[in-house]
Amino acid sequence: VGLAIGDALGATVEFMTPREIAGRYGAHRDIIGGGWLRLEKGSVTDDTEMSLALGDSIIDVGQVDALAVADAFDQWMRSKPRDIGNTVRRGLMRFRNTGTTEAPLNDMDAGNGACMRSLPVAISLLGADRQAVNEASRLQAHITHNAPAADAGTECVVHMVQLAISGAAKVDLENRIDDLISAFPEFRFENRTISNPGGYIAETLQAVFSSFVNTSCFESCLIDVVTRGGDADTTGAIAGMIGGAFYGFDSIPEVWLHTLDGAVLQECLQQAEALVELSPMYKHQNQRQHR
Ligand code: MN
Ligand code: MN
Repeated sequence: VGLAIGDALGATVEFMTPREIAGRYGAHRDIIGGGWLRLEKGSVTDDTEMSLALGDSIIDVGQVDALAVADAFDQWMRSKPRDIGNTVRRGLMRFRNTGTTEAPLNDMDAGNGACMRSLPVAISLLGADRQAVNEASRLQAHITHNAPAADAGTECVVHMVQLAISGAAKVDLENRIDDLISAFPEFRFENRTISNPGGYIAETLQAVFSSFVNTSCFESCLIDVVTRGGDADTTGAIAGMIGGAFYGFDSIPEVWLHTLDGAVLQECLQQAEALVELSPMYKHQNQRQHR
């Protein structure tokens, strides 16, 4: 739900600069639709739609299966979505034409398109070991994006979501960011100076991390990140998944919940529950209760 809210909030100001946003909306704190996609108020974009497609596939098959995920993404592309990233389109056309579910290794594909849809992997694999989580993350990511920095950034976000749901402290999530920066210095961020983050994974996550680290509630984190402009629906979506996992459902402002497209809200809630029930953490807890 946090992801969908961030997507819906950020889409209004996607590809605008902070100065343009301030001039037009002041502080952009309401879900109002519009933007370059001329969205209806409360609608979401590809970030949420691809996450839901991935989640549906995981629930159908019971695990992250590359072929099933690629099919689900391809079905989504056939529905003529209102927006779709270039690398996503190229990867899905490659799948359609050749059947391959793994894009060739290419550092130029280090976009945020695999990260923005990674949430269902995190939820369905709560309690799984790190290696299994990373493998599943790469299976879904490599259908369209196969670049080491994109893998590392996506895995970091997935781990942060899992840590947050498990009740970890903020410093634990910050330590996970530090680990990423040690391995990939391009993710290093200067406090508060990031504006117009583009689709490159490092730019996107610098904005998300900076907003998450420097705010203290779901609402301020999301407003802070989308007000940086650039790829704002996607920074909003990723900040929304981390912030939602960390601050919890009850931290989401009611006016945002009421404004979000009702069908999308229901889908997110149902899917989250079904994904949790697939997770090793849930199965383990149930076994213990039955014993
Ligand atoms: Mn989008
Ligand atoms: Mn975007």
